[in-house]
Amino acid sequence: MLTRRHWLAAALALGLITPAAAQDAPAKIPVVATFSILGDFVRQVGGDRVAVSTLVGPNGDAHVFQPSPADAKKVAAAKLVFVNGLGFEGWIDRLVKASGTKAKLVVATTGIAPREMAEEEDDHDHDHSKKADAHGHDHDHGGTDPHAWQSVDNAEVYVANIRDALIAADPAGKATYEANAAAYTARLDALDAQVKAAILAIPTERRRIITSHDAFGYFGAAYGMEFIAPQGVSTESEASAKDVARIIRQIKAEKIPAVFMENISDPRLVKRIAAETDAKIGGELYSDALSDDKGPASTYIDMMQNNIRQFSAALSS
Ligand code: ZN
Repeated sequence: MLTRRHWLAAALALGLITPAAAQDAPAKIPVVATFSILGDFVRQVGGDRVAVSTLVGPNGDAHVFQPSPADAKKVAAAKLVFVNGLGFEGWIDRLVKASGTKAKLVVATTGIAPREMAEEEDDHDHDHSKKADAHGHDHDHGGTDPHAWQSVDNAEVYVANIRDALIAADPAGKATYEANAAAYTARLDALDAQVKAAILAIPTERRRIITSHDAFGYFGAAYGMEFIAPQGVSTESEASAKDVARIIRQIKAEKIPAVFMENISDPRLVKRIAAETDAKIGGELYSDALSDDKGPASTYIDMMQNNIRQFSAALSS
């Protein structure tokens, strides 16, 4: 039987492996992140030791994602699968099961206090008896808000959870993961201060905006801004005509200054709302996904900076 040393010698002689590969260069740990923002966090902490694949890519909408067989392969090959949790990836359990993966599932929002959406926030008149029959007590405006990353404080919790999961999976990389997480957290602290300063510079009465879906609740709670959205916390169902009419009335009555488009949503809804009111159209916000490399939001930090630039441009003055 060939010993490991003999096998290496034979493989080197045959040119199957290079001497460098034979000596060191450990294989990167294959991990999956369900969406682009989470993928950026995992890359920041994992550095050179991990190979990150994301399932929902740049400008993709995780709420309505439909995994492909290629996604199942990525999950099957992964050692860790990082998910947001809080109901964001409604498709993940089925995908994990179908893939047959042995990967550990890591919920990156563990320890974050979730925002629960009040079911009766507004005066819409869905037929509750029918809805209750079909879906229990859920409907479009209720449930848990999954968009926890929109507060930078929460992003730091994601980073700590990612660090701990990587150390557990790859103890040899402990010092690297700790150093990467500490350096990135310092950058997030600076970002948090920058976001706070940008919002403080906007007059209080102008810190009220419309977005298409309700993705900025954690941002609003952390930084003191109000977001109103015709769609609920998911993009799965369209806003009803009554919801849109209600928001148009609210914009007019309360003089809400601006409506914003989102990179993952059809811009027609907010354009229609703007056309029927005096609200101006702000720029494009990145809510649930990064931009591609050429766009203004290819990392989480760039994304948050893009969004505060859009708020400042539309709301200051
Ligand atoms: Zn969303």
